Amino acid sequence: MESEDKSDCQMQRVSSPSVIVIGSGFAGIAAARALHDAMFQVIVLESRDRIGGRVHTDYSSGFPVDLGASWLHGVCKENPLAPVIGRLGLPLYRTSGDNSVLYDHDLESYALYDLDGNQVPQELVSKTGETFESILKETDLVRQEFSGDMSIQRAISIVLERRPDLRLEGLAHKVLQWCLCRMEGWFAADADTISVKCWDQEVLLPGGHGFMVRGYLPVINTLAKGLDIRLGHRVTKVVRRYNGVKVTVEDGRTFIADAAVLTVPLGVLKSNCIKFEPRLPKWKEEAINDLGIGIENKIVLLFEKVFWPNVEFLGVVAETSHGCSYFLNLHKATGHSALVYMPAGQLARDIEKLSDEAAANVAFTQLLKLLPNASASPPIQYLVSHWGTDKNSLGSYSYDTVGKSHDLYERLRIPLDNLFFAGEATSIDYPGSVHGAYFTGLMAAEDCRMRVLERYGELDLFQPVMGEEVPVSAPILISRM
Ligand SMILES: Cc1cc2nc3c(=O)[nH]c(=O)nc-3n(C[C@H](O)[C@H](O)[C@H](O)COP(=O)(O)OP(=O)(O)OC[C@H]3O[C@@H](n4cnc5c(N)ncnc54)[C@H](O)[C@@H]3O)c2cc1C
Repeated sequence: MESEDKSDCQMQRVSSPSVIVIGSGFAGIAAARALHDAMFQVIVLESRDRIGGRVHTDYSSGFPVDLGASWLHGVCKENPLAPVIGRLGLPLYRTSGDNSVLYDHDLESYALYDLDGNQVPQELVSKTGETFESILKETDLVRQEFSGDMSIQRAISIVLERRPDLRLEGLAHKVLQWCLCRMEGWFAADADTISVKCWDQEVLLPGGHGFMVRGYLPVINTLAKGLDIRLGHRVTKVVRRYNGVKVTVEDGRTFIADAAVLTVPLGVLKSNCIKFEPRLPKWKEEAINDLGIGIENKIVLLFEKVFWPNVEFLGVVAETSHGCSYFLNLHKATGHSALVYMPAGQLARDIEKLSDEAAANVAFTQLLKLLPNASASPPIQYLVSHWGTDKNSLGSYSYDTVGKSHDLYERLRIPLDNLFFAGEATSIDYPGSVHGAYFTGLMAAEDCRMRVLERYGELDLFQPVMGEEVPVSAPILISRM
C-alpha cells in the first residue's frame, strides 16, 4: 500500500481490499486485528516508536508499571477484553466492587491523612462518602430545574446553599473535598469545567474494577501479533477521494488504500497537526473543538523499602480539592516497593511544567506531609508521565464540558465516506477507557468492512469481522488481599 505512483493503487483492486489504520492504541489495534482477520490488507501507521498509545507499561525498574491505563473497568464477560485477559491468565487485583461512589476505589481501601499527618478516622471517611453521594443525588434535582447546563462545582454549591444539613465543617469538609478530588481524577478535569448535565451519562460495565497486576502490555501485544505495524510513521495529511484514501506521513511518503480508520487521540485532532482534504465538515470540527480533553498523570516513586501503611491507597485531605491528593500503593497489589501519585486537572497541568525531578519532589513532599513520623528515605528511582504535552496524545482522556452535548462522542465517531473514526473519544457509552477504545475499533472495522465490500460487491467472499471471537473459556483471575 506504500506508494509513490498510482500503479500500486491499481494492484490493490485485484486482490483483497486495503485499509490504513492510523494509530496503534487499543482502538487502532482492535480495528486492524478485525480487518486483518476478515482478509483485508491492513497497514497500521504509528507515530511513536512503540505500540499501545495511552497504554504504556514501563519495565525500567525491573517490573511492569503502567504509566497510562492500569484498571480494567468492569470485570465481567460483557467487557470485550475479558476473553483475551482470561486466556492469557493475567491476574487482576480488585480495588472496588460494583457500586463505589468513587468508581474504581472503595472508600474502605483508603487511609486518609490531613496535612499534619493525622489519620482521618475511618468512620468519618465512610460517613462523608455517604454525604458526598447524597450531594451528587441532589445535583440531579438541580439539573432538572435548570434548562441550561452548569458545572458540577456550581451545582454542588447550589445544593449546599439549599441543604444546610449537607454542609460539612472542619475535617469532614476536607474529606468531602478529597471525594471531589477523586471525582476530578476520574474525569481528569476540574469540577468547575465538568458538565452537570452529562457527567453521569457514561455506561459502567458491571463487575467492579480490577488493577492489571502485570500491566496492559501483554494484552495489546497479543492483539497486535502478526499485524503490519509501521512505527515512527507520523501522519500529517489524509486525502479522501471517492475511490480511496491517500495518507501522507511526516517524511513525505504516501500510502494509499480503499479506506482508512483514524484513531489518533482527541488532543491530536484538536491540535490540527493532521490536515484533511477535503476539510472535515463543520459538525465534525465542532465535535473536535467542543469535547473536553482532561489530564491525569502518574508519578511513580520507587523506594528501597516500604515505610507506609499496608493499605491500597493513601490520601491527603485539604481545604480545597486542588490541595488534596492520593497515592496508589503498588506494594499491596504487586508486592513492589512503589507508590503512584496521580494528579489530575489543573494540578496535573501545573506539575507537567516541572522537570521530572521536581515533579517527583512534589509527590515525595506530599507523602512526607501525610507520614511525618515514618522513617522515609527519598525514592531510589522515579517515573513521570507527560500525557498533556506528549505530542502523540496532548491529553489523557475526553470528558463532557459545560454546555456541550454528550452526543459529541457519536458525532466524532460518524464516518465520512471511506474515512472511519475510532478511539476512546468516539465512544458515547464508554469514553475515557481502554474497553471503550477497543469497542470503537471493532465498530469502525465493521462499518469499514461493510462499506468497502458493498462497494466492490464482494460481501459474500469475506468472513464477518464480528462474531469470530472464541467464546470465553478462561475466567479472569481477580483477587483482593
Ligand atoms: C494516566 C492515564 C490513566 C488511565 N487509566 C485508565 C484505566 O485505568 N482504565 C481504563 O480503562 N482507561 C484508562 N485510561 C484511558 C485509556 O488509556 C484510553 O482511553 C485508551 O488507551 C485510548 O486508546 P485509543 O486507542 O483511543 O488512543 P491511544 O491509545 O492514544 O492511541 C492512539 C495512537 O495514535 C498515535 N498517534 C498520535 N498521533 C499520530 C499521528 N499523527 N500519526 C500516527 N499515529 C499517531 C499515538 O501515538 C497512539 O499510539 C487512562 C489514560 C491515562 C492517560
